[in-house]
Amino acid sequence: MTWKLTKQNLDNPSLLVDESLLSLGNGYLGVRGNFEEGYTDSFQSIRGTYINAFHDITDISYGEKLHGFPETQQKLLNVIDGQTIEIYLDDDRFSLFEGEVIDFNRHLHLDAGFLDRIIHWKSPSGKEAYIQFRRFTSFVTRELFAIDVKIEPISHVDQVRIVSYVNGGVSNFVDKDDPRVASGHAKRLNIIDVKKDNDYSLVKNITYKSELEVACVTSTKIEAKQYTYDSQTTNSHVEEVYVVDGRNPIRFTKYNVYTDTLRHGQALFEQAVEIQDNIKEKNFDQLLTVQKQYLNDFWQTSDIEIDGDEQLQQGIRFNIFHLIQSAGKDAVSNIAAKGLSGEGYEGHYFWDTEIYMLPFFLMTNPEMARSLLLHRYSLLDSAKERAREVGHTQGALFPWRTITGGESSAFFPAGTAQYHISADIAYSYIQYYLVTKDDVFLQEYMAELLFETARLWIDTGHMKDDQFRIDDVTGPDEYTCIVNNNYYTNAMAKNNLLWAAKAFQIYSEKNKESLDVLVNKIGLSEQEVKEWKDAGERMYLPYDETYQISAQDDSFLSKKLWDLENTPKDKFPLLLNYHPLTLYRYQVCKQADTVLAHFLLEDQQDFQTIKNSYDYYEKLTTHDSSLSYCVYSIMASKLGYDDKAYRYFNETARLDIDNTHGNTKDGLHMANMGGTWLALVYGFAGLRVKDTGLSLFPALPNEWNSLKFHLKYQGSLLSVKMSQNGVTYTLLEGEELTISHRGKSIHLELGQDVKIA
Ligand code: BGC
Repeated sequence: MTWKLTKQNLDNPSLLVDESLLSLGNGYLGVRGNFEEGYTDSFQSIRGTYINAFHDITDISYGEKLHGFPETQQKLLNVIDGQTIEIYLDDDRFSLFEGEVIDFNRHLHLDAGFLDRIIHWKSPSGKEAYIQFRRFTSFVTRELFAIDVKIEPISHVDQVRIVSYVNGGVSNFVDKDDPRVASGHAKRLNIIDVKKDNDYSLVKNITYKSELEVACVTSTKIEAKQYTYDSQTTNSHVEEVYVVDGRNPIRFTKYNVYTDTLRHGQALFEQAVEIQDNIKEKNFDQLLTVQKQYLNDFWQTSDIEIDGDEQLQQGIRFNIFHLIQSAGKDAVSNIAAKGLSGEGYEGHYFWDTEIYMLPFFLMTNPEMARSLLLHRYSLLDSAKERAREVGHTQGALFPWRTITGGESSAFFPAGTAQYHISADIAYSYIQYYLVTKDDVFLQEYMAELLFETARLWIDTGHMKDDQFRIDDVTGPDEYTCIVNNNYYTNAMAKNNLLWAAKAFQIYSEKNKESLDVLVNKIGLSEQEVKEWKDAGERMYLPYDETYQISAQDDSFLSKKLWDLENTPKDKFPLLLNYHPLTLYRYQVCKQADTVLAHFLLEDQQDFQTIKNSYDYYEKLTTHDSSLSYCVYSIMASKLGYDDKAYRYFNETARLDIDNTHGNTKDGLHMANMGGTWLALVYGFAGLRVKDTGLSLFPALPNEWNSLKFHLKYQGSLLSVKMSQNGVTYTLLEGEELTISHRGKSIHLELGQDVKIA
């Protein structure tokens, strides 16, 4: 049970959720878990195929547009549909909403990377058959989305007709009432080519404005005793029809290969045909074996084993599976807030990547983390441009939400004003460096990124009364906007500034010549480096004497308290029921803010302040954002609130599987999925990576027998097994490693188990 997710739903709300849960992806291509044969007219389905970063540009319309507001935004597009396959048993069209569904199961196989659907169906006129669908998006050939169908008639059927489509007439989903879905602009693709040659169906589309092109080249195969074949081309789709003798089992396979001009140059059809040629040698089952091998390797280091709770075990595996499915692994893509599972947040990349998802990749697959960081680096020039647009004379301001680097947020108080994203990105670079000690990375990318983000803080903040202060920004809590000295932002900016100065120092010691090239390129003066250090050291971190807590910002604690206890359940999430100004006037938090800063930068405060702050903010936090529970779980672990740590963890682990936020239909909550991993490894196991090295502070929940996972650190691979009797560390790769366990230094050597009671 823990390696698969099984679904049997046929009602509409559940099926919409299942489309997200059972979506398949490989970081490049994503396909929602739709039924190949479609639905009845009254059913709502979000039929979707997405290519990471494949977008169009749409105009943002404002009632009042002020200076520096972005004029356009990017939008992930639903691309050419290769899913559709209709099946007819004689004249009866197969549909799970007609006739009798005698048996029906769907399984998402987390270990093998495919989805199946197993059906025993009887048509209204009594034609009966077993039908099995299997599909996968390949991790090895990222352009490939393959579907295999087995049809076994059990009653008398003369003919089975299979009609397979490749359809370029597609558009996006719109929900005008939910700001988290999309604003409109459903149709953004023109069809430019539809044709059929001997081997393939070929369809090509172009976006309205970004002028990106996408192609789908499809081959189909049939295994059957006797059949006839025909095809037809319209101006929007290619249709292939197989009419097969119904007395024997039939197997039909469809290989869709997608290419796009972001990655494949201009000759999209030719490129796709070449890929088709390369996979031709292998049949569906062999391709699936390759898929399984890829995932075997992945799970070797990425699995987390929880002994003692199958539901949670399934939850964590499901979440990790979707992380690997969603992560862009090339130079033009990142991880969208919903991965490739839906259209919520329009395929945009947020700070979600760096703060919530990157740590998983960093500690288990550092090369993938590197690729994500390099993608951000590729947006550095746009971030510099954005800073100028907003009025900064120097530095880089990363957009709140984006695909290609332009700000795509039209609501600046909870968008552009979240300046912390620049420090979050810097933070993730620093973490990467601490984990890998990759000096080449520091020299080629990290230094420049830290320098430009440090410059932003200098330009944004100012010195007053000997303290460096940052006014009018928004922290992570989107129910409190445009404030002075948001604790989180200041804390992260401090880290950013101090590390920029430190990176300068390291760089100059390791490779002065190369540093000089960078210094010339960006016109950096030594004086600036001094300023960074100075501003970092004098950064004002608001503290409240009365409560002895870190104040969320300068004004938060003097606002009215929101009465959460007496707020009716149907008013949550508050953002859908109250005007933002109402929310801003109260002490009420959408998500972890100061508490998150205390996790990421715990050494900036003493334990008691961290504890008091947790107690204070917990009462005011709605967790209306799914980015919140995991942070509360991690910090509860740190503070010894074991019950809470466990309770909050439970909220993260099955948030999508159980659709607890009610909007999984729009796509999965990827940051929360990364957060589940964080809550286990940074929470229960107490991992931290700092200048001083890698440390753990394990505390296994009473409910479990054991928890086991792996970490990659500076070239070593470490296995950690926590049980109720103690912890066992085993160094699986690397000569030796010294780590800290509950504050005590431990030396590990290759292959030896070190058990600590
Ligand atoms: C959260 C943000 C997050 C965004 C995308 C919002 O609801 O408040 O912190 O970045 O969702 O996941």
